Amino acid sequence: MRGFSLGSKVAIIGLDSVPPELMFQKLLPKLPNIKRMYDRGIHGTLETCHPPITVPAWMVMLTGKNPGKLGIYGFRHRRGFAYKDGYIVNSTTVKEKTFWELLSAKGKNSIVLGIPPGYPPKSIPNCNIVSCFITPGMEKQFTYPAELKEEVLKVANGKYIFDVTFRTEDREAIKKELFEMTEKRFDVAEYLAKNKPWDFFIMHEIGFDRLHHAFWKFFDPSHPKYVAGNPYEHLDEEYYVMVDERIGKLEKIFGDNCISFILSDHGSKGMHGAFCVNQWLEEQGYLKFKTKPTKMTDIDKAEIDWSKTKAWGWGGYYARIFFNVRGREPEGIIDPTNLQKEKTDLTDRIMAITDDKGQKLHNMVLVPDELYGTAIGDKPDLMVYFGDLNWRSAGTVGHSSNYLFENDTGPDDSVHSMNGIFLMYDPKKNLAGREIRGAQIEDIAPTLMNMYGYGAEVNGMDGRKLSEVFA
Ligand SMILES: [Zn+2]
Repeated sequence: MRGFSLGSKVAIIGLDSVPPELMFQKLLPKLPNIKRMYDRGIHGTLETCHPPITVPAWMVMLTGKNPGKLGIYGFRHRRGFAYKDGYIVNSTTVKEKTFWELLSAKGKNSIVLGIPPGYPPKSIPNCNIVSCFITPGMEKQFTYPAELKEEVLKVANGKYIFDVTFRTEDREAIKKELFEMTEKRFDVAEYLAKNKPWDFFIMHEIGFDRLHHAFWKFFDPSHPKYVAGNPYEHLDEEYYVMVDERIGKLEKIFGDNCISFILSDHGSKGMHGAFCVNQWLEEQGYLKFKTKPTKMTDIDKAEIDWSKTKAWGWGGYYARIFFNVRGREPEGIIDPTNLQKEKTDLTDRIMAITDDKGQKLHNMVLVPDELYGTAIGDKPDLMVYFGDLNWRSAGTVGHSSNYLFENDTGPDDSVHSMNGIFLMYDPKKNLAGREIRGAQIEDIAPTLMNMYGYGAEVNGMDGRKLSEVFA
């Protein structure tokens, strides 16, 4: 195998939500450890999946399978064709094998720290696993093997932090908890890398995503709500520098026989606003209320007249649109033979939506079966991105306008973008800061399989081997 010497280990440091614009452009000169890896390694953008959301993106990366094959289209899903019975994805929803499960079958050891969705932790031989930011709390069983929990809590001084509460106005509290959480994550990462056997190491840090959502308007001068001289103007730099130091320490522990990757699952950018998808569907005659809400109301709590409703939607980074189909939904009214025409008609209307100033929004409408080839599980009928994802979808109703300039589910100033980061570094080689182009998130698992010499077994993965890694 060219470019990869037998006996090397591989480590992935997963940084949620990091865009190339921040790490490789704005802040790189302030990040000596990452800059060294950048200057001597291979860097580029890593294009994420549709939808560009943490769950499913990390699983797409580490199974090599697209969201349609995974049957995961975001955190929250409908249960079948029920109107209101939603559920949150957890580790048990993922039926495809992750890279560390494939390695485990070969007798190889892995450390898996916080990869989402990682709760409840799966029992995988030859692995030391700590669950992720969806873990309900420290009192739960969050490690495999179970005994590992005590060690993690000891390293974290009795308080391991899975996530921070970030959609609140108390920015000072978010900041304090964010730094504490990330420092502890890296304390645990160092402990595991030093004390547990591993051929493959992977960790995930959610803090970047929380930093971006809670503070983007403070540190990005191009954000409409930016105020010069605010107390968090350099918080992005402060946080990235802290993580850079921790990556430097971790790299020393990894040693010269380890090839490292720093990867993110998608990028981030400033939010322009939120578009009220259900209010718009009502105006267009697709959605009817028994009593029209006059104050902000969750769509699940609104009194919908299903006998006159053709379609409704969910909020989030993107809109999920569901049609009310006869024989499928409990009170469906659309003739199944007309569903395709209904999809086309609504798509035309969505593409004509304008912003609050009357300018056409650059919307995108995706149909899961067409997009993925196969789309299992609880998929929406249509997936809609408003304004190149600069606009969120607001599922709530009862607003005085279809255009909101605050997120309807709590303070939030950023949205996700399609490009994350790719950085690969081999301490033994100077690859002179080469750029990789066209890397996609599902390419990581087949590339790892090839690095470990199992390239013949990547059948069924959607990604390709990134040949630049081996050149
Ligand atoms: Zn993410």
